[in-house]
Amino acid sequence: MRKKRNLRVTKWLNMTPAVAVCTSCNQEFQAPMVALRRTSDAQANLQQQFDAHQCQPQDSE
Ligand SMILES: [Zn+2]
Repeated sequence: MRKKRNLRVTKWLNMTPAVAVCTSCNQEFQAPMVALRRTSDAQANLQQQFDAHQCQPQDSE
């Protein structure tokens, strides 16, 4: 069974998403400075990183 994962923005700069986390594994994603100039770029960049990442099990601590 796979948990459904979602991208949640945790930090905004004005109206632009700057930092987001995976709701499943809590991995953090940061939009690069260049992408922060346009809201749509920042959103797309975060989504791309999110789609590409592998959820890590959280039992390693
Ligand atoms: Zn994840």
